[in-house]
Amino acid sequence: MFANLIGGKWQRPEGCPTLPVYNPASGEVIGQTPLCTAAEVADAVDAAARAYPAWAAASVMERTRLMFNYKAVLERHSEELAAIVTRNHGKTLEEARGEVRRGIEMVDFACGAPTLLQGRTLRGVSAGIDQDYYRYPLGVVGGIVPFNFPVMIPLWMFPLAVVSGNTFVLKPSERTALGAVRLAELFAEAGFPDGVLNLVHGATDAVNALLAAPGVRAISFVGSEPVARHVYQEGARHAKRVQAAGGAKNHILVLPDADWDLAIPALINSAFGNAGERCLAGSVAVTVGGSAAQLMERLEDAARKLKLGPGDQPGVDIGPLVADDHRRRVLGHIERAAGEGARVVLDGRSGGYLERSGFFLGPTILDRVTPAMAAGREEIFGPVLAVTHVGDVEQAIELVNRIPLGNMAAVFTASGRAARQFREQVECGMIGINVGVAQPLAFYPFSGWKSYFYGDLHLQGSDGIEFYTRKKIVVSRW
Ligand code: NAD
Repeated sequence: MFANLIGGKWQRPEGCPTLPVYNPASGEVIGQTPLCTAAEVADAVDAAARAYPAWAAASVMERTRLMFNYKAVLERHSEELAAIVTRNHGKTLEEARGEVRRGIEMVDFACGAPTLLQGRTLRGVSAGIDQDYYRYPLGVVGGIVPFNFPVMIPLWMFPLAVVSGNTFVLKPSERTALGAVRLAELFAEAGFPDGVLNLVHGATDAVNALLAAPGVRAISFVGSEPVARHVYQEGARHAKRVQAAGGAKNHILVLPDADWDLAIPALINSAFGNAGERCLAGSVAVTVGGSAAQLMERLEDAARKLKLGPGDQPGVDIGPLVADDHRRRVLGHIERAAGEGARVVLDGRSGGYLERSGFFLGPTILDRVTPAMAAGREEIFGPVLAVTHVGDVEQAIELVNRIPLGNMAAVFTASGRAARQFREQVECGMIGINVGVAQPLAFYPFSGWKSYFYGDLHLQGSDGIEFYTRKKIVVSRW
């Protein structure tokens, strides 16, 4: 059973039920997540609250120095972290290495604290009067993360929060907690004081306890849309600052003038990379005007060549899904789409994948999907690409804007005019232009719109610093 980290001590909670954790490539059980409740969460929050005064009083340079240590420790262990991600989540080693790299970039960004945490001054606002603002931490911050990026998403949160002077309670995904456990061990190795980062395992009960805990001042959440909404509403009801990023349904438009050699691999990577388990997956391809026939032929051809297998084996393009219950959900979507009239052009259920041990599902392409079908509007979160055909760019933009989740949308075209029209009119917070996965790097906010996101300040970048700090305005006369 995994242990909680409370005030610098690893403790196995007693009497909690547990949930098995799998290696998705073999189906083998590799650990048990304790499903902690309010008592364990309260211990973690208390430990974070005890550590807070000294940590908030530590100099910015001291906090930054430790963050540089953490970066060096993470770099040293990056291969090990990638192997843990592959073993616990299932993605390929190459994808896991990319995830770890993106995560370490958040630590790089946090190392900029001496600049990021600066306030501002305006002298002489009236005769003899100056105004300044200073940034202060909030106190104890809670972080709740999803299963699909078990190393990167925790690193979106706690490095920036703690370098700003907060202490942190992290609740990893109950399906993929191994990465967060190793991140917390390495955090201690970097020399951070006990109680600055605490870790408590669990699922719904632990999250609800964190949302209600009076000692927690703010909550960072990443996960699915209904839970993001719940976290935002519950957190606000308990007077907390909340940022809650949810699910996605991302469209990729392909215009007839697209560079096909660029568009096809980008579409394949966007739809099937990470086995489709990512919030930036381009899960709907939209052919515009005359691009349909050529796209379908090239897409199917490229998808057929993808090699499925355990993520740690060389040459594998797609790993398994995270768990069998999740795979059954994805299979349900494929069956429903076929029942609603979609044409299954490439069927990931065939090819013997379902009979193997492990939670494999082959790449699947559904053609003639419309927004009236569930596959055209709901997040599937698996290796399933829906294809829709429209007559012109205006219809395509209308199709994208009808989706309540405004995370990412992309367009492949040689026309600057069409790309600009798309950028201006599409109601999504992250836009790819001839790019299939428009991921903002650490120094830009992860900026989805509409019901993809609940709150005001996004994760990462300047929004992240704003979220984890509050300002004190000083008006002085001398
Ligand atoms: P999830 O919403 O099921 O779980 C996320 C976290 O919330 C977990 O820690 C889980 O324990 C907790 N949780 C689950 N149900 C809960 C409930 N009813 N009440 C309180 N807490 C609950 O998400 P997941 O399946 O782990 O991850 C996949 C989802 O995350 C997808 O929808 C994906 O799009 C989304 N995601 C979003 C982003 C982003 O940047 N917005 C990034 C990665 C993943």
